Amino acid sequence: TVSVCWLRRDLRLSDNPALHAAADGGDEVLVLFVLDDVLCRPAGPVRLAFLYRCLRELDDRLSGRLCVRRGDPVDVVPAVARAVDARRVHIAADYGPYGRRRDGEVEQALRTDGRELVRTGSPYAVAPGRLATAGGTPFRVYTPFYRAWKEHGWRRPIAEPAGACWARLASDGIPADPDLGDVRLPAAGESAARERLAEFLHGSLTGYAERRDLPGLDTTSRLSPYLKYGCIHPRTILAELNRATSPVSTASPVSTASPASAGSGGREQAAGRERDAEKFRSELAWREFYAEVLAANPASARTDLTGALADMAYDPPEAGFEAWKWGQTGFPIVDAGMRQLLAEGWVPNRVRMIEASFVCKDLHVHWTHGARWFLDHLVDGDLASNHHGWQWTAGTGTDAAPYFRVFNPVSQGRTYDPDGIYVRRWIPQLRDVPGAKVHEPWTLPGGPPAGYPAPVVDHATERREALARYEAARRRG
Ligand code: FAD
Repeated sequence: TVSVCWLRRDLRLSDNPALHAAADGGDEVLVLFVLDDVLCRPAGPVRLAFLYRCLRELDDRLSGRLCVRRGDPVDVVPAVARAVDARRVHIAADYGPYGRRRDGEVEQALRTDGRELVRTGSPYAVAPGRLATAGGTPFRVYTPFYRAWKEHGWRRPIAEPAGACWARLASDGIPADPDLGDVRLPAAGESAARERLAEFLHGSLTGYAERRDLPGLDTTSRLSPYLKYGCIHPRTILAELNRATSPVSTASPVSTASPASAGSGGREQAAGRERDAEKFRSELAWREFYAEVLAANPASARTDLTGALADMAYDPPEAGFEAWKWGQTGFPIVDAGMRQLLAEGWVPNRVRMIEASFVCKDLHVHWTHGARWFLDHLVDGDLASNHHGWQWTAGTGTDAAPYFRVFNPVSQGRTYDPDGIYVRRWIPQLRDVPGAKVHEPWTLPGGPPAGYPAPVVDHATERREALARYEAARRRG
């Protein structure tokens, strides 16, 4: 007999409980991926190319037996199950608003055909809905969520299903990559994800807690594209993190000495290692927190999570927003980030926050416009993390600190890119600008260097304007 395993955001063979469930009992497994226009159309060429490359890698691992079909899953999945006479279709549960609805419809269609949809696992260490506040409501504040998340814990990773037999069915094939121009993408797929993780754990994890906010140093894991498509599961990352940083680990990136046998230097190293590990764990938990928030509030994929700014006055996205999209605002840290987005489909977290603040508070444009542009261009574009990351800065989301935190692009640049490495990397016109002037080139005696624009707004004026609008909205609300 044959079972179908329909992969979506879990493009890997190891630590894949749905695949295990499909292979259990010795069934042959048909591994299916559906190119669903509803998800592919808004993805943008960068994310699509990365997805296709991940699919190609997976197909190689399956000796060319990945069945790729194009169409509406509500039609395609039951048709495939019928073609191989599978009684069960296995999936990892999806918690996004579209995914949940789609899976419900597929389940119904399978049922009318006498077949079953089986959900095993999810793209998260702790699936959305498992945790609740003491009052039984879903979490909306990160810190108590994090505490509960760690207390809950997660299962150990599982290996690839041993000796699984892959069924074959005609495939529509994996499309050729869309034209990417000069965009540089990371290597795709499960092996690349594991290599990236190992490099990170044995390299820039040391010092992560202090350096993750410094975009010039490029010290974060860059695992987000792999997490997006499930080339690696967060459970695997958390287990490897523990292994690499536990005091008795022989795989420790820093030292193999246990704290007991080490002197005070060893203890400090161990404490530093634990600080870095804890910070990294807490970042992985942000991804899970936002998935939880989206699952409990599906409308926040389209609109403000809270009504805090319901009466806020916004401007339409016009010339300033166009300049922002193409890295031409005249504010170096803002432009460097947007140029990196266009060149790599990826931006460090600190710079994503600076971008969001600029759009919402310097341009007074509603967060949804910026979030849409990000989703079009990010290789890791993820509805939950993106939309709630934007809303956190916009003041409409889960941040307890309200709207009046307005990032100053010059002081953000000076603090987080103190040597100007990041802005000079992405803005060639600024390479010869000396010292801290690189963050405010309009103050140079001759103005900004040739080819680099003057600021599109006066930050101090727009900050006052943002606060005035906020006060007015509060009075109205
Ligand atoms: P690391 O620092 O190495 O962190 C490890 C992992 O933890 C990340 O891969 C990611 O899965 C998770 N993580 C880290 N920080 C966050 C965070 N603030 N929120 C949620 N998860 C986090 N992340 C996406 O994956 N997709 C998005 O579309 C996305 N859009 C964002 C938009 C805005 C405005 C903001 C402020 C943040 C956004 N983030 C998004 C979160 C974060 O910026 C990226 O996950 C992170 O920069 C990815 O780089 P990394 O893998 O090197 O992170």
